[in-house]
Amino acid sequence: MRVSIGIDIGGTNIKGGLVRGRRILRKIEVGAGTGMVARITALIRRLISKQKVERIGIGCAGLVDPHRGVIHYSPNIDEFRNIPLAALIEEEFGIRCSILNDVNAFLLGEWLFGAGRGYQDLIGLTIGTGIGGAAIIGGRMLWGSGYLAGEFGHMVIDKKGPLCSCGRRGCLEIVASQTAIMRMARRYHLPLSDPEGVARLAKSGNKKALQIFDAIGHNLAIGIGNLIDIFDPEVVIVGGGIANAGAILFGPIRRYIRQEVMGYRYRRIRILPARLKKGASIIGAAHFDEQLLTP
Ligand SMILES: [Zn+2]
Repeated sequence: MRVSIGIDIGGTNIKGGLVRGRRILRKIEVGAGTGMVARITALIRRLISKQKVERIGIGCAGLVDPHRGVIHYSPNIDEFRNIPLAALIEEEFGIRCSILNDVNAFLLGEWLFGAGRGYQDLIGLTIGTGIGGAAIIGGRMLWGSGYLAGEFGHMVIDKKGPLCSCGRRGCLEIVASQTAIMRMARRYHLPLSDPEGVARLAKSGNKKALQIFDAIGHNLAIGIGNLIDIFDPEVVIVGGGIANAGAILFGPIRRYIRQEVMGYRYRRIRILPARLKKGASIIGAAHFDEQLLTP
């Protein structure tokens, strides 16, 4: 079976792996910062030093044109403005390189090898400091006319809610991300520094922490309910660190979704945690094939 390289570019770090099938044979993580292309190139050079590689796939947050292999814009990475990264990497190594948005890469990984295996209509959400989204409909990735489809984190679910980075109020990501969990924790005077801590407290039965997850779960159910009304998917896959919280998160989502979607009893809805954990974007990017782009 072929070996490929998958790269996941985030605002704070770059993760790369040698990928065969669903397995990451070797993984390297380096910090992000100035000179991103040189950092990525050095990481790839380390990965291919002992291994022949068939292709390179890169997942990157932001607005990515997978057709042209260009990153138009990426939050937190100022130098990524209309940069033809795929061509630069191909020139450097003489290996085929393709690029896609990191959440599309996540959903592709989960579709091929994770919680989405065997389905044709899938929605993916990644919950971190923000909320990312992607969709595969009828077995085809939904790109949109300008590769901006799937910004589900910026679906407004409470027009009187807190101000979002996009300029609107009450976007899903401002009321249901890890940032929202921490904002609620501060309001409840819970002395915790990360959402995992809030999750642990909730699992131990703390009422305030459970209320936070109940509210987050309800907000997610409103957003997921809207997506189900629009797309009628077979499965909604929830990834990102907090998706590991288990029943304290998925319990409220599955309870509230009954009232937050049209015709619940006629639907067969599966809302599942991601299965590939932190490797989904690397694995998905490594398997990204331009065939997914053909109309
Ligand atoms: Zn927004």
